[in-house]
Amino acid sequence: MDSPANEMTPKKHPARLGLKPWALLVLGVLVSLGISYAAYTLAGYSWSQVVDYKSPFTSMPTDTFTGKRPPLSIAVPDATPRRVVLVLIDGLTDAASRTMPSINALRKRGNDVALTVPQPSLSYPAWTTILTGAPPNVSGVTTNWYEQRVAVESLFDVAAGSGRSLVVAGPTDLDTLFGVSTIATATALTDWPEGGYITNTIVDDAIRLADENAADFIFALFPDVDEAGHGYGAGSKEYADVVAKVDADLERLIEGVDDGETVFVVLPDHGHVATGGHGGWEDPVIHTSATFAGPGVKGGSSTALLQDIAPTIAVLAGMQAPQYAAGLAVDALLADPNGRAKDADFVRAIGFDLAYARTLNGQAAIKDISSLGSASDLAQVTADAEAARLKADRADRLPMALGLSLAALAILGVIGVASWRALVAALAGSAAYLVVYNALFFLVHRFAWSLSAFNEESQVQAFFNGRMIEAVIAGLIGCLVAGEIYLLFRPAAKGTRHGFTPGWLSLGVATALAIQSILGLQVAWFLWQWGAKTVWRLPDLRWGFKYDLDLIQMTALAGVAILGPLFTYLVGRFHPRMAKP
Ligand SMILES: [Zn+2]
Repeated sequence: MDSPANEMTPKKHPARLGLKPWALLVLGVLVSLGISYAAYTLAGYSWSQVVDYKSPFTSMPTDTFTGKRPPLSIAVPDATPRRVVLVLIDGLTDAASRTMPSINALRKRGNDVALTVPQPSLSYPAWTTILTGAPPNVSGVTTNWYEQRVAVESLFDVAAGSGRSLVVAGPTDLDTLFGVSTIATATALTDWPEGGYITNTIVDDAIRLADENAADFIFALFPDVDEAGHGYGAGSKEYADVVAKVDADLERLIEGVDDGETVFVVLPDHGHVATGGHGGWEDPVIHTSATFAGPGVKGGSSTALLQDIAPTIAVLAGMQAPQYAAGLAVDALLADPNGRAKDADFVRAIGFDLAYARTLNGQAAIKDISSLGSASDLAQVTADAEAARLKADRADRLPMALGLSLAALAILGVIGVASWRALVAALAGSAAYLVVYNALFFLVHRFAWSLSAFNEESQVQAFFNGRMIEAVIAGLIGCLVAGEIYLLFRPAAKGTRHGFTPGWLSLGVATALAIQSILGLQVAWFLWQWGAKTVWRLPDLRWGFKYDLDLIQMTALAGVAILGPLFTYLVGRFHPRMAKP
């Protein structure tokens, strides 16, 4: 890298003067293009590691993983087989649920459960967690692009296997994911609405099927509230209107199927941000509420994770919980243990948690366990195993992350050796880049590092394209700032008309490389913390989102390595100071 003033050019070898600055310039552009390509490749790899995540838990035989259990056909001892109606209202926020007289009436005679949704707060992963008790890292369902049969047992499998008359009404997705048309006694499946309202039809179907089949496990999924959330936002009148319509239909369903001995469970998969969208970690998205009412339900309020819902329903229904449920029946909302149902769930949970811990962290994870008496004991076992595995993985990844950091620092070092003023200018240009890029991201667009940033899946590509264009714009502004700052430190600098063209061009490349290096340091941090490969748990998706955006920016900055030199050249050519002869 040569400086605009050629300060490093050896005076003794004037013959080399012409070629070396140009060679450094070309080398700098090539390095930037190489970084861009590597970042692009890593972004694609990391994205598909999450989207096409393969659960290590479902890839081993179930008996090996969780151990054998009694066949579903054998009734849980002393348990009352209660009739259950489970209603999933897609995209219903806690606030909206409190405007619904139907749900408020259930709350009054039942239990109001503060619910936390795991990441990513997308529909398929959350439906799967509700119906199987398995969070995304266990079920393998990490996005709405999962279009095959879920690999873990569901409440549908358990209900049908336990001899219950199971009826299912809702969108056809339920067949793709859970194979309900082959499992259930009867189903009524409808295409996902595009503009139309289908909750009324789903309720009609559910009431009719329940009646025709003397159903004792009734499941209905209402998609319309989520559609309104995406279309207008959870803060809109349109959303509130659809919530009111769904409320009337839910009331109709409850009246239509209640025989006085039915357990009602109503809950959403996730909420929505006020402007519409979910997938991330925002409070109204991940903090929702479930309502339980009916025999076996203790009044009051409680807290639960989404993965606790399936085991809790299983205990209330007097059947076994799905085999891969990572959750546990919620004690605080159970009026009684329903015979041996609660004990059976606890025994199952011990088996699951020990297998989970062993899978994560080897035999050592379960070596020191003498007694497991409570839910918190079990939570501790899994938390310890997860922490130990994470610690070991981070130790493994540290050399790679340090190597990457050193490479990033080495690029800055080379620029500094060529010209410390160019380094200072490039760093100032980088600071300008960070200010402009992040001001656009956070202040102008009001985005966050969250999957809720794209309201519809169709917006994903446009979202990333938009960030790449803005990265280039911010980078070019950074180049202009770098030119200005360079002149600040070198008042006597000569311009392009004085033979310093390669130096001024190089300042643009140096700025692009400096920004890429600074982003590279942040990427190195993420790779140490969470790794590019997703093996046994998903990365923190908030940081993962930032990491992917950092890589996207590093990719786009090749455009600045190519266009930026033109901008710094213009400073060297037309800056008022260069006008002087
Ligand atoms: Zn949605």
